[in-house]
Amino acid sequence: MSTALQAAFYATPTAQTLGAEVIRVDGDRVMLDQTLFYPAGGGQPGDQGHWITSNGSSLRVVDTVKAEAPGEIWHQLEAHDHGLRVGDSITQHLDWARRHRLMRMHTALHLLCSLVPRGVTGGSVGVDKSRLDFDLGDATVDKVQLTEAINRLVEQGIEVTSEWITDAELDANPDLVRTMSVQPPRGAGRIRMLRIAGVDYQPCGGTHVGNTSEIGEVTISKIENKGRRNRRIHLQLND
Ligand SMILES: [Zn+2]
Repeated sequence: MSTALQAAFYATPTAQTLGAEVIRVDGDRVMLDQTLFYPAGGGQPGDQGHWITSNGSSLRVVDTVKAEAPGEIWHQLEAHDHGLRVGDSITQHLDWARRHRLMRMHTALHLLCSLVPRGVTGGSVGVDKSRLDFDLGDATVDKVQLTEAINRLVEQGIEVTSEWITDAELDANPDLVRTMSVQPPRGAGRIRMLRIAGVDYQPCGGTHVGNTSEIGEVTISKIENKGRRNRRIHLQLND
């Protein structure tokens, strides 16, 4: 479906600026024909940044969310009197410093996930702190050992790539889904798979760095008990 093409951040994951046309306006929410702004989902927050309009004014984008229809994306503008109309051209400027931290964090959580071979029951990607919740059962985890193991994978400089498979291919391989609480979105006919060569392969619609070395050194800062079987594992970037 053509609306899926709004998500230009999949084809050009490191692009920071992009021209686009306004295709819908609903108060302070604006939709573009193509966007670099990732909409909140899968535990990762929506992107922020600003747009430059054709008359040179700057509009702040404070959040990005999924619209009702699959593949459609709303940008939440700070200004109510933004003046944008359908057909207007703008230039997007992503808050790249923030987004790149989220990409590093998100990729680090995949490494963590690969090291704890149990079901994931929740998670959250943040600029300063991130976490994954596991249904650990009788398995045990150690902060220091996990920190060392993740940093070894970071140092190895492993390639991170993505590919699309069909809903049917995923249905034929249900073990690929690690997250118990969130099933990947279906209905669009295809599912995005994230691959960290030899380490992790699972459905994920988020944004990631292209190589684990880009993550930099991380620390598992805390492991919390959340009920008898559940453990919440907190991760931070060391810079
Ligand atoms: Zn991911």
